[in-house]
Amino acid sequence: MHLCKYCQVDNTELSISLRANHTRWCKERPDRKEVDELHSLALIKSANNRWGVFKDYDVTCSVCKKLFSVNVREKLFDPNVTFHCSKSCANTKGGNALSIKNGSTGRSSYRARAFKMYGSKSCLICGFDKVVEIHHIDHDHDNNKWGNIVILCPNHHMMIHRSKYSEEVKSDIKRILGGWVC
Ligand SMILES: [Zn+2]
Ligand SMILES: [Zn+2]
Ligand SMILES: [Zn+2]
Ligand SMILES: [Zn+2]
Repeated sequence: MHLCKYCQVDNTELSISLRANHTRWCKERPDRKEVDELHSLALIKSANNRWGVFKDYDVTCSVCKKLFSVNVREKLFDPNVTFHCSKSCANTKGGNALSIKNGSTGRSSYRARAFKMYGSKSCLICGFDKVVEIHHIDHDHDNNKWGNIVILCPNHHMMIHRSKYSEEVKSDIKRILGGWVC
């Protein structure tokens, strides 16, 4: 029997690492705010080191040819992708201002695409690189636009699929990718 010392929830069924994760991020922690701020700062610092800081880039909408700017981390910016200025110009499922047209689909191609985009085969959030999985933000495995595919370790991947931790992992991804994420 394992009860969280802060919220008393029964953690018996969780693996040791998920249990440790719960304790670390428990909403009932008296120092939760400071823990959150430290985590956020550490995450931003490591993302800055891995992919550079956010910069504005001028790009052209592939549909209406309008010039607009996108705010993307230096090493994640790829001028060769297809940009859309608006949802209506994207006009495809899951399209957003930064959406990129679908290329080929299939597991191997989106894995390769993700590794190429992020320049490493490691978890976006924690950097773990021994076993990694690809997660689709909108859960649509045919939507392989940049910003919809993220690399996660099994732990963070499991967390994003659990309603209890999902928002927490998504907000970490937003801190790392900014507006780039779908
Ligand atoms: Zn707790
Ligand atoms: Zn447009
Ligand atoms: Zn991870
Ligand atoms: Zn997933």
